[in-house]
Amino acid sequence: MARATRGDEGKGNAEDGSLHWADQMARECRRRVEESPLLKKIVKEKGHIVYDEKTPSGKIHIGSGRGWIIHDAIAKAMKSMGLKGRFILSSDDIDPFDKMNADLPPKYRQYLGMPFMDIPSPEKGYDSFADYYFRMCTDRFEEFGIDAELESTGGRYRKGDFNKAIRTALDKAHIIDRIFEELYGHPLGKLPFNPICEKCGRIGTTVATAWDPDREAVTYTCAKDAVEWAKGCGHTGETSPYDGAGKLPWKVEWAAKWPTVGVVCELAGKDHFAAMGSRDAAIRISDQVYGFPPPYPSTATKTGKGYEFFTVGGKKMSTSKGQGIGFSDITGYVPANMLRYLLIATRPHAVIDFDPENGNDLILLYERFDRTERVYFGAEGANEHEKQKHRRIYELSHIGTIPKRLPPQVQLTHAGVIVQTQPTINDAIATLQELGNIPADLTPADRQYVTDRLLFAKRWIDTFAEEQYRFTLQETVTMDLAPKEKEALYTVAARLKERKWDEMSLHEEFRRIADAAGLPTKEFFRAAYLALIAKERGPKLARFILSIGAGKVAKVLGTIG
Ligand SMILES: [Zn+2]
Repeated sequence: MARATRGDEGKGNAEDGSLHWADQMARECRRRVEESPLLKKIVKEKGHIVYDEKTPSGKIHIGSGRGWIIHDAIAKAMKSMGLKGRFILSSDDIDPFDKMNADLPPKYRQYLGMPFMDIPSPEKGYDSFADYYFRMCTDRFEEFGIDAELESTGGRYRKGDFNKAIRTALDKAHIIDRIFEELYGHPLGKLPFNPICEKCGRIGTTVATAWDPDREAVTYTCAKDAVEWAKGCGHTGETSPYDGAGKLPWKVEWAAKWPTVGVVCELAGKDHFAAMGSRDAAIRISDQVYGFPPPYPSTATKTGKGYEFFTVGGKKMSTSKGQGIGFSDITGYVPANMLRYLLIATRPHAVIDFDPENGNDLILLYERFDRTERVYFGAEGANEHEKQKHRRIYELSHIGTIPKRLPPQVQLTHAGVIVQTQPTINDAIATLQELGNIPADLTPADRQYVTDRLLFAKRWIDTFAEEQYRFTLQETVTMDLAPKEKEALYTVAARLKERKWDEMSLHEEFRRIADAAGLPTKEFFRAAYLALIAKERGPKLARFILSIGAGKVAKVLGTIG
């Protein structure tokens, strides 16, 4: 098979049988559209809309980030197929504020029951509570390579986009009741519309009691005891349900969005896809009330599968108010490009439990990424199937323009050693060049690539790496050593001064020195680590010594008394 030209987002791959999940999903969406005259018409006008939505009720969990990257990848896969794929993310900012979060001052209790978009922002510089929490994530999208069109669900209500769907829901309230009856054994129990109380501005407390289809008016009460988390003002009124006067209840709203926006694909976390969950209700409402085919992966009768849980955890991270890590905090523990790679390389139906504080998880992620990158650039062999797989993962996960040649890779553990032995990033790069780990001639982009990795390694070592990856080079040797060990290390100091070494020849020399001193190799290495870093184990010795600088090490070993 002809190789996709580097840097063109792999045009053609999606067409010719790529097995990547995003390409498979994009192809399935295309097939559905081709089979439905209704969808065909919508898509012709609006493009293939991949949709996601999030209630900005507080700091948004990293699990939602998985959905954003999945949807972004599907839209990009559609583009690779020549379709007009669009990822739209809407802020469900007209939802009611139903729970205080630990970051909010107590005065926020007064806003319970109000739409998030009508509540002041906890921080200056944002339009509202909703704007603050939504932008905490979306302002970072570029860094994660997520191309999303951002929308406000409340804004759509205000523009009147949902008017038709509201009218239909109210006219067909009996069908919605029947669907709820089938699924949950009881009807919705109210009219499918929640007005915003004209007196107190709350939306979580109102109950619509009557719908007059001729006058297009809803009668409602702002109930004092409708919900436990907010108290209504007791007002009774009548309002037109249109143009932002209120919203549809969640499961009805989910279904109403699909024909209103023209959605062909919308996944969600698997909790939404559970039997009798919100998706189950929404697909029936979409089909029976709106006559609209529910988006991929659902059909009118089958919910399909949601994406699996994505948890990022570790001891230090989980203590933060017990909520798990937020999307906006994740780059403190794993760089955006590595996180995107992890989510693109893993099928959405596989659980991911990633623990950056467990060195293995992080080191393995870097190793996987590096291998994919080498295979992409032909610097590592792989069979045709593997090559195709890695190429597509690289294309879909790469942020920004794909470079023309393999960037200079440095293993995370080695980068961790270098940043602990060199005072500055420039010294670290110079050392890597001396060691022959990276080329002597770096383009500015190459240099940035290495710098990013070193900076992350430094953050890792300084803030959350396990003890085994951290060390302090001793200025004078303080540990007790046996005479044979001292003798061997004196010899090391002498040899280091004699000539210039490379990693391999120095390693060989260590074996000879240990033999000559009558020391088992294992004991020799243990003695060297004790002398240099006061630990029994450490990074690969020859490379470690060269990373620090042979002269510097000889000086330390010279202090053995
Ligand atoms: Zn009220």
